[in-house]
Amino acid sequence: MGKKLLNDYTIPQLTGLMAQLGQPAFRAKQIFRWLHQKRVSSFSQMTDQPKTLLARLEEEFEIVQLQTARRQQSKDGTVKFLFTLPDGNCIETVVMRYTYGNTVCVSTQVGCRMGCRFCASTQAGLVRSLTAGEIAAELYAAEADIGQRISHIVLMGIGEPLDNFDNVMDFLTIISCPEGANIGMRNISLSTCGLVPMIDKLAERKLQLTLSISLHAPNDAMRSRMMPVNNAYPVAQLIAACRRYQNTTGRRISFEYSMVKGVNDSEATARELARLIRGMGAHVNLIPINPVDGSPYSATDAANVRRFQQLLTQLGVNATVRRRLGSDISAACGQLRREARREAET
Ligand code: SF4
Repeated sequence: MGKKLLNDYTIPQLTGLMAQLGQPAFRAKQIFRWLHQKRVSSFSQMTDQPKTLLARLEEEFEIVQLQTARRQQSKDGTVKFLFTLPDGNCIETVVMRYTYGNTVCVSTQVGCRMGCRFCASTQAGLVRSLTAGEIAAELYAAEADIGQRISHIVLMGIGEPLDNFDNVMDFLTIISCPEGANIGMRNISLSTCGLVPMIDKLAERKLQLTLSISLHAPNDAMRSRMMPVNNAYPVAQLIAACRRYQNTTGRRISFEYSMVKGVNDSEATARELARLIRGMGAHVNLIPINPVDGSPYSATDAANVRRFQQLLTQLGVNATVRRRLGSDISAACGQLRREARREAET
């Protein structure tokens, strides 16, 4: 069995580890700072730690390092990375520049088993879930590359975050910790395709992050065609879970709605969507999709997206159109990883 990653440990977990090793508790915070604030790549850089402890840690643990396999930069400043993990698997990470700060979109799994029809990330299934430290390392590697602080995180890259629940929860603990990157929960959005039992489990944590639901359709016939997860958790169950989530956490839900030409962009669909979520105070993000090779779907044109948004607004639903970033690079989720895999196979 390979070594464990020390980056995966939260401060309470490190405190437990120090106790096991007969070390004082304060070393947990010190080591956490070396890993998540100073972001060292080797144990020997932890200069205030006893050599005997470092030798012991090195026997059992390693510090994760991501290698940049590819990097693409868009004219609008969006940077997309293909990072290689120590086991050779690849993941994608994207940095987007907004007026309020830099946002990183992180992957939470290598591949995905959710099977959404418009998504390149799922085409080869799930390989494995990322650990907490590996997800944090995406942010650290992206920050080091752009030379600027990243203030916001969206868990919207490759993978379904709630299908990797425990590691994602540890990642959130690590990344929001004042002894580390110190990114406030209100600057973090977690996106799910709609795993109802896990939405309820997340609600119990009462985190102040923004929960984003990839809805994409207001009825079961349409949604099941686009997203097989809907067969397990139909629209009515999903919306009921969203209402429970809002009641428990006091946080408003955000709905992601990818506009697909001729599939979910009619006036009748906008009316149905408004009926479904009106009164929840939720926000709808309309997303002009980035086309994916091999997918039957194409993007709704800009004028129709605008009409859809205006109709929702008239019907009392708060809706905005997401700015399309990185459309001149392979910015649709999973595309860069798929291109690299194809090249490796030929
Ligand atoms: S959209 Fe998200 S949940 Fe759906 S297949 Fe792609 S990565 Fe998985």
